[in-house]
Amino acid sequence: MDLNKLADLLIPDENVKPLDYYETLYPARDLEKGAEVTRLAPSPTGFIHLGNLFVAIANERIAHQSGGLMYLRIEDTDLKRKVDGAVDAVKNALKYFDIRFDEGAEIEGAENKYAPYYQRERAEIYHAFAKDLIRRGLAYPCFCTEEELSALREQQTEAKKITGYYGEYATCRNLTEEQIYENLKAGKPYVIRLRSQGNAENKLTFRDEIKGDITVTENDQDVVILKSDGIPTYHFAHAIDDHFMRTTVVIRGEEWLASLPIHIELFDVLGFRRPKYGHNCSLQKMDGETRRKLSKRKDPELSLEFYRQEGYFARAVKVYMLTLLNSNFEEWYMKNADVPLEHFKFSINKMGKSGALFDLNKLNDISKNELAKLSEEEMYNFLLAWTNEFGTDTQKTYFADKEYLLKVLTLCMGVGGKKRRKDFTTAKQAMEFISYFFDETFVPTNAYRFEGETVKKILQTFKDLYDAADDSSAWFNKVKAVAEANGFATDMKAYKADPAAFPGSVADVAEMLRVATTGLANTPDLWTIMQILGKERTLARLENAIKAL
Ligand code: GLU
Repeated sequence: MDLNKLADLLIPDENVKPLDYYETLYPARDLEKGAEVTRLAPSPTGFIHLGNLFVAIANERIAHQSGGLMYLRIEDTDLKRKVDGAVDAVKNALKYFDIRFDEGAEIEGAENKYAPYYQRERAEIYHAFAKDLIRRGLAYPCFCTEEELSALREQQTEAKKITGYYGEYATCRNLTEEQIYENLKAGKPYVIRLRSQGNAENKLTFRDEIKGDITVTENDQDVVILKSDGIPTYHFAHAIDDHFMRTTVVIRGEEWLASLPIHIELFDVLGFRRPKYGHNCSLQKMDGETRRKLSKRKDPELSLEFYRQEGYFARAVKVYMLTLLNSNFEEWYMKNADVPLEHFKFSINKMGKSGALFDLNKLNDISKNELAKLSEEEMYNFLLAWTNEFGTDTQKTYFADKEYLLKVLTLCMGVGGKKRRKDFTTAKQAMEFISYFFDETFVPTNAYRFEGETVKKILQTFKDLYDAADDSSAWFNKVKAVAEANGFATDMKAYKADPAAFPGSVADVAEMLRVATTGLANTPDLWTIMQILGKERTLARLENAIKAL
């Protein structure tokens, strides 16, 4: 068979150049020895998930820590899954977590010497290599229709055989020259398949950077490399791209492990050296008693958008991801909590071999700790950024009086106190937490644990005595006086010794005042709250509470 003629006919792309041309166009990168080139290669489906962040952090660390670089490649070969604005969504989602790309799709200011970074724009390169494989007898046209392929699948399933297009089932593999030309003449659509040289009887051992030595079965599937519209499949495109973008390490999800034999064969037939591969474990969660993979359908926390919308502090999420990624991170972080995270020495061999357990409660604990390290000014800026994007119009008005809000934050965070308070978990929750400081969002609950009449008397006595000029001890003496006047215990020892002798204690009185002015039974220091609210607002709230009883 005249393979050159066939190749020219099947891939008549006039732009296709000799293969050497691409080697010169995309030369080896001029980097120091040991510098790694990594990439993130998402499909533009619009859904960026925690698994993407998980591998992005690992790839980013490996690249930058070694003096190398990380680039962004968009794997848009599957048009059906493409969503408008998806590339911006990827970039924004990762930017929030401070993941920097040094080059790639839409990365401004970069030299982008290995462009284009969208696979759809690289058709010529894929065609050049597919053409070469046809010439070498390592790829062939396949005219099987969808119907024929699904009938084959059924037949194989019934006979309990491995499904797919291989060996005896790969009918188009053996078409004669005449048959091929006849089909072409008849205008039958075709794909280009790899003529696999592998044998499923053979095992091969592969060194995975994360999982160690793994044994896989050689590929014998004649996988599609170019679809009928001339667009490559992911398998074929990624091998060519990783080679010509001079990728040295690929950290990707373990769902790709199953395709590894195909990738190994493709690199071999293309004559390329493979990058190092590390297949990262999946993120799992406890669902009752069972442990399962995070699911797009069931778990909103899988989407990265969730963390932005909820207003998670990016550093907290990163700290948690690093905790899950490297087994020695947690210990390092205990000793180096205030050091930039980049100082941690990330190592691939400390990455988990099997599923990482993701626990939102653990993340919330980390978030509380991280947020408790901020100054009130930093917290202000963090909340402002979140509110501008996701807050309600009323929440936006909280920022009208910066001095007032800073006082609220200072109190709620315990700035200047002996110990920081850890009441804030996310921006969204913090904005709700402080809502009682603002009349528009203050919700009187009148949720007292005492009879209305008693509460009313207590609130009234306090209101009559209240002086905004009192310092905290003078204020507390008045609370005690109110307690005493109403028969409540002020001596906590005496109260504990015989609680039945009193209707309650001074703590209960303070709680009534708290509920009346904030709607809540638990808050930071009440004297300070009243100071922040100011005289008029405090008196008005007490007055309204009395009226409501
Ligand atoms: N485009 C693939 C994905 O979105 C990337 C796989 C890889 O990193 O090689 O999952």
